[in-house]
Amino acid sequence: MDADDSRAPKGSLRKFLEHLSGAGKAIGVLTSGGDAQGMNAAVRAVVRMGIYVGAKVYFIYEGYQGMVDGGSNIAEADWESVSSILQVGGTIIGSARCQAFRTREGRLKAACNLLQRGITNLCVIGGDGSLTGANLFRKEWSGLLEELARNGQIDKEAVQKYAYLNVVGMVGSIDNDFCGTDMTIGTDSALHRIIEVVDAIMTTAQSHQRTFVLEVMGRHCGYLALVSALACGADWVFLPESPPEEGWEEQMCVKLSENRARKKRLNIIIVAEGAIDTQNKPITSEKIKELVVTQLGYDTRVTILGHVQRGGTPSAFDRILASRMGVEAVIALLEATPDTPACVVSLNGNHAVRLPLMECVQMTQDVQKAMDERRFQDAVRLRGRSFAGNLNTYKRLAIKLPDDQIPKTNCNVAVINVGAPAAGMNAAVRSAVRVGIADGHRMLAIYDGFDGFAKGQIKEIGWTDVGGWTGQGGSILGTKRVLPGKYLEEIATQMRTHSINALLIIGGFEAYLGLLELSAAREKHEEFCVPMVMVPATVSNNVPGSDFSIGADTALNTITDAYKSACDMAEARGRHQELCIPLCVVPATISNNVPGTEISLGSDTGLNAVVETCDRIKQSASGTKRRVFIIETMGGYCGYLANMGGLAAGADAAYIFEEPFDIRDLQSNVEHLTEKMKTTIQRGLVLRNESCSENYTTDFIYQLYSEEGKGVFDCRKNVLGHMQQGGAPSPFDRNFGTKISARAMEWITAKLKEARGRGKKFTTDDSVCVLGISKRNVIFQPVAELKKQTDFEHRIPKEQWWLKLRPLMKILAKYKASYDVSDSGQLEHVQPWSV
Ligand code: ADP
Ligand code: ADP
Repeated sequence: MDADDSRAPKGSLRKFLEHLSGAGKAIGVLTSGGDAQGMNAAVRAVVRMGIYVGAKVYFIYEGYQGMVDGGSNIAEADWESVSSILQVGGTIIGSARCQAFRTREGRLKAACNLLQRGITNLCVIGGDGSLTGANLFRKEWSGLLEELARNGQIDKEAVQKYAYLNVVGMVGSIDNDFCGTDMTIGTDSALHRIIEVVDAIMTTAQSHQRTFVLEVMGRHCGYLALVSALACGADWVFLPESPPEEGWEEQMCVKLSENRARKKRLNIIIVAEGAIDTQNKPITSEKIKELVVTQLGYDTRVTILGHVQRGGTPSAFDRILASRMGVEAVIALLEATPDTPACVVSLNGNHAVRLPLMECVQMTQDVQKAMDERRFQDAVRLRGRSFAGNLNTYKRLAIKLPDDQIPKTNCNVAVINVGAPAAGMNAAVRSAVRVGIADGHRMLAIYDGFDGFAKGQIKEIGWTDVGGWTGQGGSILGTKRVLPGKYLEEIATQMRTHSINALLIIGGFEAYLGLLELSAAREKHEEFCVPMVMVPATVSNNVPGSDFSIGADTALNTITDAYKSACDMAEARGRHQELCIPLCVVPATISNNVPGTEISLGSDTGLNAVVETCDRIKQSASGTKRRVFIIETMGGYCGYLANMGGLAAGADAAYIFEEPFDIRDLQSNVEHLTEKMKTTIQRGLVLRNESCSENYTTDFIYQLYSEEGKGVFDCRKNVLGHMQQGGAPSPFDRNFGTKISARAMEWITAKLKEARGRGKKFTTDDSVCVLGISKRNVIFQPVAELKKQTDFEHRIPKEQWWLKLRPLMKILAKYKASYDVSDSGQLEHVQPWSV
C-alpha cells in the first residue's frame, strides 16, 4: 500500500504531473562512455519516475553494446532494482564503448532489439560521443524500421506503431566538457576527490617546502583544472582552452619564487591532462617539474590523479542534480512529439533546462575546433559563461600587480563575518580582500562580528595575509551572532575613526538583520550612508534573496556522508561482530548558539568517530536487522538541509517546518516503512529538521517509530549538530564563496567610483543590498525590498525555491505526490557567452 499524500505544494500551479501519463510507453535507459559518479542516481530517478507515471522502464546493460547484443542485456527494471544505488559510484548497469553501434548494421540490430520490447523512448546518460550516437540513431530510425520490415523481421503495423524514437540525453562526464550545461553529472564528485588530495598535500607541506605539480583529468577541457585551482588557490594552472602566453616559463618561475619569498611553504601547480601552449604543443607535468627543478632548484613532486577522480561516493550535489535531471528526462520523453528534436536536460544556474542535443554537441565540437585553430579566446567564449567567469576570477586572485601599478582609490573597505560559522566564509574573505586590493582600496578586517566592530577590533589586511584561506573551515576573522542595534553609536564611531567607505558583510540571517538595522540607522548616523552589501553564508540556507548560501553544500555533504557511514556500518555488522552494538554515536550538541565554534569533524572523520566509539563501547547487541535511521539536521526553522539531504540520500520522509505534519502523517510513514520492510529493501531513513515541530521532537519520533515498528524494524537516531558547519569546505562552497564575494567587491568599487570626489552620501535603498543567486542569475537586491519577502518570526524567506522539489523526494520514495511541471524546461537554445 502506498501512503497517500494529498497535500499539493502551495501556490498557483498550472500543470501537475498527474496529467502526464506514460501508460503504454516503454523507456530504455542506458549509461555509455566513461563512467561518472551520480550516474546511478540518474538511473534510479528515470526508473522510478517512469514507473510512477505508468510506463515500463528497461535497463539496457553495457551501453550501446547491450542494445546491439539484446537478449538479457535489455531487462525490465522494477522499483526495488534501483534501491541502495544512490550512494554508489560508477554505474550499476555498466557502460562500454561499442564499435558496432558506430555502424548502420549495428544500429539495425539495436533497433530490432528495442522493438521486440516496444521501446521507443530512450534515455541516454553519457558524454558527447554517446549523445551523438543517440541522435544519429533517432534520425535513422524510420529507415531502420523500413529495412527491418523489408527483411521480414517486423511487420507493417509495427512500422506504423513504433514510427518515432524519442531521445533524451543527460550528460554524465566528470570533465564537464559539454557545452550548454553548467554542470555535468560527476563533475562535482570529481572535484571532491581532487580537493581531498590537495588538502592532504597541504598538511604534509607544513613540514617540507615543496612544489606540487598535480595533473587532473581533462584531455580537451580544462574545467576540473580551473575550478580546482580556484578552490585551492593554486599558484599556476595550465588549461587547453587558455594556454599561457609565450615566455610563461620565466613568468611562472618568478611567480613561484615571489610566493616563496612571502613565506609560502607550498606551491601548487595544476595541470589539465590536455594542457597545451599557444603553439598547440603539449605542456606535460614532467616538463613543468623539470623546469622548476632546473630553474629554481625546488623540491618538486608530480602527482597524477587518474581514475581516482571517477571513484568514490557521489557528492550530495551530483545526486541531487542527477535525480532532478532523471525526473526531467522522463517528463521530456512524455511530452515529446515527432517534431521535437532530441534534447539534453541540463542545468543553467539553478534552473533545469532542455536544449537541442545537436546544438550542444555542435558547440562542444566547435570548442575543439577553435583550440585546434588556436583561436583560444573563442574557445573560452564557447565554453560558456560559467567557464569564462571562473577563468576571470582565477586570474584576478592569483596574480598580484606590483603596488605601484595599482591606482589607489583612497577608499577603505571593511569586511566582517556575522552569525554562526559556515564553511567557505574564509574563501569569501580572501577573495574580497584580494579583489579589493587589486581595485586600489585599502582593505580592513573586522574581527568577531559586530561585537568586535563596536570594540574597534579592526586592522588592515593585506594580499598575503589571506593566503591559503580557501580551504580552511570555520571563520578565521571570528564571527558572532550579536546584532549591531545595541551598539549603533559605537559602530558609527568606528566607521568614522577608520574612515570606512564601504562594508562587506559575510554571514547568515543575523547578517541580514544587521544590515537592516544599519540601513535603518542611516538617518541618525550618516556614517552608515555608505555602500553596504552582504553575501549569504550559512548552513541553513535561509537568507532571503538567494537560492544558495555559502556553507550549505558542505553541510549537505556531511548529511549524506553520515547516512552512508551508518549504512556501511549496518552492512559491516554481518561481517564484524564488534560492530553489533547500539549505533547512536556521533557526539553532538544541537544548540546552534555557540559563536565562533570551529568543529573540524570532517565527513570521513565522522565515520572514524563512529567506529572508534563502537570499539570503546564494545558491547554486543543483536545482529543485522531491519533498521530505520532517524537523523536530525540543523537549519533553525528552515528545512533546506533536511529536504535536500533527503533527496540526496533517498530518505523515506523529511519532516520540515514549512510543510506542517500531524499524527496522520507520522502514522502513514510508519505504515509505509512497515510495507517497505516486506520487500528486499530493509532500510529506512527519516530526516527531521531541528525546529520542524515543537512537540514532535526527534526523541518523540524515535520512540513512536520504535514502538510502532516493534517486531518489524528497529530504530536508531542521530543528531548531526555542529559537524554540519563543516571542517573542510566543499569545492562548491570554496568557489561559490570566492566568486560571489568577488562580485560583491566589484559592486562596491563601482559604487565608490560613482561617489568619487563628490563626498556622496549613499542614502537610497539600492546602496544596501544582498547579493544572491536567483535561478540563473547573480543579483543584487536591496534589503528594503527583501523585507516583504521575509518571515521574520521564523527567520526564513516566505518563498523557498526548493519546496518545489519536495514532491520529487516523495515520488522517488514511492509516495503519491503531485509534482508541478509548469516550470520545467521549455526547449531553449545554446548560446556562446559574449565576452
Ligand atoms: P562519451 O560518450 O563519453 O563521449 P565515446 O565517445 O567513447 O564516449 O562514445 C561512447 C559510445 O557511443 C561509443 O563507443 C559508440 O558506441 C557510441 N558513439 C559515439 N559516437 C558515435 C557516433 N558518431 N555514431 C554512433 N555511435 C557513436
Ligand atoms: P529507496 O528509495 O528504495 O529507499 P535508496 O537507494 O534511496 O532506495 O536507498 C536504499 C535504502 O537505504 C533506502 O531505504 C533509504 O531510506 C536507505 N538509505 C539510503 N541511504 C542511507 C543511509 N546513508 N543511511 C541510512 N539509510 C539509507
